[in-house]
Amino acid sequence: MSRLLVEGGLVVTMDAERREIADCDILLSDGVIEAVGPGLGATPAAEGAERLNAKGCVVTPGLVNTHHHLFQTMTRAVAQDDLLFGWLQKLYPVWARMRPEHMESAATIGLAELALSGCTLSADHLYLYPDGVRLEDTIAAARAVGIRFHPTRGAMSIGESAGGLPPDALVERETAILADCIRVVDAFHDPAPGAMLRIGIAPCSPFSVSRELMRDAALLARDKGVMLHTHLAENAEDVAYSLETFGCRPGDYAEALGWTGPDVWHAHCVMLDAAEIDLFARSRTGVAHCPCSNCRLGSGIAPVRALRDAGVPLGLGVDGSASNDSGHLLSEARQALLLQRVARGADALSAREALEMATLGGARVLGRPDLGAIAPGLRADLAVWDVSGLGAAGAWDPVAALVLCGPFTVRDLLVEGRAVVREGQLAGLELGAAVERQNRLMRGLMA
Ligand SMILES: [Zn+2]
Repeated sequence: MSRLLVEGGLVVTMDAERREIADCDILLSDGVIEAVGPGLGATPAAEGAERLNAKGCVVTPGLVNTHHHLFQTMTRAVAQDDLLFGWLQKLYPVWARMRPEHMESAATIGLAELALSGCTLSADHLYLYPDGVRLEDTIAAARAVGIRFHPTRGAMSIGESAGGLPPDALVERETAILADCIRVVDAFHDPAPGAMLRIGIAPCSPFSVSRELMRDAALLARDKGVMLHTHLAENAEDVAYSLETFGCRPGDYAEALGWTGPDVWHAHCVMLDAAEIDLFARSRTGVAHCPCSNCRLGSGIAPVRALRDAGVPLGLGVDGSASNDSGHLLSEARQALLLQRVARGADALSAREALEMATLGGARVLGRPDLGAIAPGLRADLAVWDVSGLGAAGAWDPVAALVLCGPFTVRDLLVEGRAVVREGQLAGLELGAAVERQNRLMRGLMA
């Protein structure tokens, strides 16, 4: 039995009372949180446990990233000044040249970046499969980095010749898409509590697949007991496309095709109106809020305050690295706070609410009641933040400082009780070599 005592930190539990406990110990046993409280270190329960000193640190649940396109880490700082549709049209031809090694490298870099910013669980949305690419390419990267992973089998099926946005070379036949969804779910999905790997089904967006594929994907996901994910109501162009093509708003389209419910989460939702927010609240449909990406693409400001007040499950996403172009999840919490305040004033979103979205909120969106808080019985996913350095020097409130100051690199990151980051360094990956390889592959794509 492996046991670890995380000693003496200021623990942000995200439990039902949102307790923050000073000088608090956390006892972990075989990947599960066994006990939380001050003075545990002196009790018989902690005898023989390995110890991790967290004095002077803030300890939070591991952060949860609810939306990403890891492959885009290969194309950062490209198409710098375009709105969503123009941006996509510039990037599609580059993405069409990617091969399995590009996917694997980009996912490794993206997940490493997330881990160092406190992330213990990330979703991913891989929606293009050129030249032999498979979902496995990203799964291999997650195993190398060591974080939990919820990759989704994305897809595009309507190419330019059929009135869609992507080039025909990047779209797949819908029967082949559904067959590969079944293959990856059967091969990799783990429904058990504590799972390190869960698969979702995720047609890219209403403007790149057919109505039939949306409907069939929902039926398949329910048959298999896996989650559904897509992009929805991302910006004004996206809503206009829905009205023009489907004759309804994005929320109505989603509802009609089975795309609402606690097993569904949608990225962005910048343009949801009051009726759609009510629909999402009633149906417990989740939202991945991606503030940096929304800023980068000028998409607008998502109604986060209204979504929270309505009780919509709400998490944060860094989104793909071609539209962020960073993958720092704790900084995304900061950006969420700042963006709501631009729209609604300084009391629109608190630092603790932003931190909740980054942890507990994300875990709920991804259907993980076993994650997102520090409480006995939950899985041992913890982020230990050293707030004694430059970034928080002079901060009166170390918990709020995580969001208001920084940016911070996590000091220690535990996933299922195992060290993924130790003293600010990735435990299982030689980062220099990974970066060198990534840049070599990127230069090949530029040629
Ligand atoms: Zn996205």
